[in-house]
Amino acid sequence: MARLADIDGNPVAERYELTACLQCGRCTGGCPVGLRSPLNSRRLLYEAVVREDGDALVARDEVWDCTACRTCSDRCPRELDPAAVIREIRTLKIEGGRIPTTAMDALESTLKHGNPWGRSRRRRTQWAEGLPVPSVEDGQESDRLWFVGCTPAYDPRCQAMARALARLFHAAGYAYTTLGTEEVCCGSEVLRLGELGLFEELLETNREALQGLEIREVVTTSPHCLTAFRTDYGLEIPVRHASQAVADLLDAGRLPLVRQAPLRVAFHDPCYLGRQSGVYDAPRRVLAAVPGVELVEFDRCRERSLCCEGGGGRMWLEGLGEGERNAQRRVRDAADLGVDAVVTACPFCLLTLEDARKTTGLEDTLEIVDLAELAARALDDPADGPGEEERS
Ligand code: SF4
Ligand code: SF4
Repeated sequence: MARLADIDGNPVAERYELTACLQCGRCTGGCPVGLRSPLNSRRLLYEAVVREDGDALVARDEVWDCTACRTCSDRCPRELDPAAVIREIRTLKIEGGRIPTTAMDALESTLKHGNPWGRSRRRRTQWAEGLPVPSVEDGQESDRLWFVGCTPAYDPRCQAMARALARLFHAAGYAYTTLGTEEVCCGSEVLRLGELGLFEELLETNREALQGLEIREVVTTSPHCLTAFRTDYGLEIPVRHASQAVADLLDAGRLPLVRQAPLRVAFHDPCYLGRQSGVYDAPRRVLAAVPGVELVEFDRCRERSLCCEGGGGRMWLEGLGEGERNAQRRVRDAADLGVDAVVTACPFCLLTLEDARKTTGLEDTLEIVDLAELAARALDDPADGPGEEERS
């Protein structure tokens, strides 16, 4: 028997300086799944230090409940990183073949098809049919890349957010290109599931694509791609979320939002956009520019936003927790606020909230809307836009 060691045999307690842990429980106290899951970061760290049997820790399945929201790591007064320790345990579980089938399928699909949804590479651009979306495959180059992302490209509900964004970009004459069917998964969830080898492959593929095309700026639909490129890849070029690009186009007077979209809305700050990337104001600037929209804030908004449980690979994991899911709490809170819609800006939040709306019986009274979808409703004519020569 030996203490918990990472995949290279380094003791986890030393690598992550876990003996500095005060056992104060601030990490566990902020964990969004802590109330209904056996996952307890404080106890896991304690056991990583004192327990002689590392294999017993790796056998624990509650680590799959982690959404990789990083609240625990952000709250630690000793600047320890419980989220990274949990990811180490996931990596060891994968090495031992102890991964839930659904997550394994997502990883295998990413390896084979470049996306976790089991869909063919050839169909990656089907979402854009009928829209003027430039692609390097058609020889339309630009030094700005819109990285569409797997879920907006393939998921039928999330394709609407990609289509709305394409219409906004077109209406503003925003210059960009896409990778078309050559785009492959950013690897955000692959990394957080603990599959380090596959993540490295995806990182290399994407990095080479960006360098080969001399891309100087990346805009992402998903906050998860944003976090991957900014934090995990350490790209030196600017990477922005689509909400930031749209807010800047509005500020520059390039996006005519003229139609009324009368709606009382609450904005759900996605963890990977807000707390992990510091983007809070851009989506609110977009909401303020849509005629007829009234924003009502959740009690838990901005830094205190309630994680929807869609991150950290949880889209492909059922989880051990019982009782009400956070997304269900979120839509009930929205109903209590008396809003017509919850607006968000992340494909995973969109899907978890849509699901929660149905399972809580709010289907007929509450709408779940992506930020770009809402803004595109206010375009005078979604099909209208400047010609290619006007793009900049
Ligand atoms: S917040 Fe930090 S110091 Fe406190 S129990 Fe968690 S890991 Fe230990
Ligand atoms: S990353 Fe989030 S979900 Fe995971 S243990 Fe930390 S606080 Fe809990």
